[in-house]
Amino acid sequence: MRVKKQKRHRKVVRFYSACFGFREPYKVLCDGTFIHHLLHHRLTPADDVISHLLGARALLFTTRCIIGELRSLGQSHSEALEAAQQLITARCDHEKRVGATACVESVIGETNSEHFFVATQDADMRKKFREVPGVPVIYGLRNSLFIEQPSTQQREYAKSTGERRLHMGESEYLKLYKSDLKGMITNDSANGVTEGTQLTRNFGSTKRMLGVAEKSKFKRKGAKGPNPLSCKKKKKKDDTSAPQNQLTLRWLCRRPSFHQLSLPAKRSASLAFTAFVPTCNLRLSSASLVQGKVACIVKESAFLGSSILEHHKSQFNAPVLRTKRESNHSVGVVKAQTTAVAAPGLNQSTVHGKKVLRKGVVVITGASSGLGLAAAKALAETEKWHVVMACRDFLKAEKAAQSAGMAKENYSIMHLDLASLDSVRQFVHGFRQSGRPLDVLVCNAAIYRPTARTPTYTADGYEMSVGVNHLGHFLLANMLLDDLKKSDYPSRRLIILGSITGNTNTLAGNVPPKAGLGDLRGLAGGLDGRNSSAMIDGGAFDGAKAYKDSKICNMLTMQELHRRFHEDTGITFASLYPGCIATTGLFREHIPLFRLLFPPFQKFVTKGFVSEDESGKRLAQVVGDTSLSKSGVYWSWNKNSASFENQLSEEASDAVKAQKLWEISEKMVGLA
Ligand code: NDP
Repeated sequence: MRVKKQKRHRKVVRFYSACFGFREPYKVLCDGTFIHHLLHHRLTPADDVISHLLGARALLFTTRCIIGELRSLGQSHSEALEAAQQLITARCDHEKRVGATACVESVIGETNSEHFFVATQDADMRKKFREVPGVPVIYGLRNSLFIEQPSTQQREYAKSTGERRLHMGESEYLKLYKSDLKGMITNDSANGVTEGTQLTRNFGSTKRMLGVAEKSKFKRKGAKGPNPLSCKKKKKKDDTSAPQNQLTLRWLCRRPSFHQLSLPAKRSASLAFTAFVPTCNLRLSSASLVQGKVACIVKESAFLGSSILEHHKSQFNAPVLRTKRESNHSVGVVKAQTTAVAAPGLNQSTVHGKKVLRKGVVVITGASSGLGLAAAKALAETEKWHVVMACRDFLKAEKAAQSAGMAKENYSIMHLDLASLDSVRQFVHGFRQSGRPLDVLVCNAAIYRPTARTPTYTADGYEMSVGVNHLGHFLLANMLLDDLKKSDYPSRRLIILGSITGNTNTLAGNVPPKAGLGDLRGLAGGLDGRNSSAMIDGGAFDGAKAYKDSKICNMLTMQELHRRFHEDTGITFASLYPGCIATTGLFREHIPLFRLLFPPFQKFVTKGFVSEDESGKRLAQVVGDTSLSKSGVYWSWNKNSASFENQLSEEASDAVKAQKLWEISEKMVGLA
């Protein structure tokens, strides 16, 4: 697969080389989104990764406008900014900063005369460049890089200009004729140059002068070289080139970047080295000798993201070091200063030294109180997450966020009433309009109506508990699945709150009324209390049971999502029981005495009480903790607050029921 992809990429590079005159080292113009992507996915050293992609050395460029734009994005893009500043700056001639897209477009112009590959994550820019002839585009998908296939327009352009490239135009012919004449006059045969070779040489130079693309050199398939078994050993050359006289590199460590270069004796005692490696301008300034070897310590400078020494290991041999005084004294230590003036890139320190992930975006439904609010707070406090609080009461949510002390830049509030499928659709639309990516969705909101004697209904006519807790979330999860798929965040998750009360394999799950979906006849009948029962199993209405039933639906849905989508999308689907949070608003409709006694009962009798803060941290773990990234799991926590994979009851893990529930729910929310 990988080989196939590589072949495809090489083919594209050959296309641009042959048809548009792209030459090595390839120049790659990177915008901020692409640099950010490289860092985010640790695709470093960047030049190595891109060189590998293109099959030849690549030089990375950016522009001042792009750097300016990254600077304006503030802290979240500081690593990308740092990396961008180390790239070669392409000339953009903008006195006042313009947007990255406009800037890249102006550098490329109408013909991409500088033969840049454009590296961007911006879909619009990619689309635009498909229409400009000779602009290959590189982009990343998670931790892989791709080169876009030439568009039909590009291919057609190449085809139409192919004829022109094959034959000379009139003016070209004239120029060639003139230069040939001149060549014949100035270079006579006395120079030992035959007429034939002269003509060929002039033709070549004329071709270069005219900027006509030279035919690309295709690699011939077939034998790659002499049979290694039949190779003779290389003859040793003279003494000076003997291995022991060559500068050898000994790697002390990659970081903090000191390399020891050792050189056999015979060299000077107090060496004042001025070593100059032409391609990377590495200077060694002084040396001293110890024990028959010259050792120089060179501070590494990054060269396009990889060690300069690594890059030029092969070229770094004795001849490039000039000693002022030769001596038989032994070994010394040469402290060398390096000045890497050649193009640097995204070096490893920028990646490994600091964490460079962008803020994750998590949508939490029902984040205006209880568990949702506590989790939103815990996540916002890490400064690594932007929480979208999807709430039905905007003002309540804003007040809650403020009183929880959440910093403004770490959250936003969007309206969502799960009791209306239209509101769900509007929320999804609004969220997409906001332009934020979606990395994690938490279906947390719920209502619990234990004392209700008669059912109430959602805007779409479904019993309220199941309508809000299950059907609203079912539509939301299905609609936002596409957004999760598009996210470039390393770990994308969809979490649906479960509950112990829906699991009849626990003590709490056996407190009547027990949860049970039966054969789903009530749900299949429309759950509207008119044509069918308002209860999923078709029985008489019971507010407490309706809540518990909805929780089974939540847990079944999570598993069905896992079965249907995990393998293809890599999204983690999970559910959890955060513990008994006896103080939340979930019990607001319970009788006052219950509300009074339930928290101390949980604290002192069952000892199962969990504070809102603690439960928030637990949910935050399921959102972002790498150790909880397994999909299809129902998480719980033990008395020491350690998470473990819990067992679901037989009904809550019934795959056949999950599928049936999925199919009925799809119809009810208008997805099928
Ligand atoms: P809360 O009542 O404190 O929070 C529920 C949230 O859901 C509130 O923000 C509420 O909004 C919101 N909500 C209710 N109806 C809608 C609606 N129609 N549209 C949008 N939002 C709505 O309860 P908890 O924090 O305790 O519960 C959170 C989750 O945890 C639930 O899924 C629950 O099943 C689960 N859970 C709770 C346990 C506990 O012991 N508390 C135990 C196990 C699981 P508003 O503020 O406007 O009312």
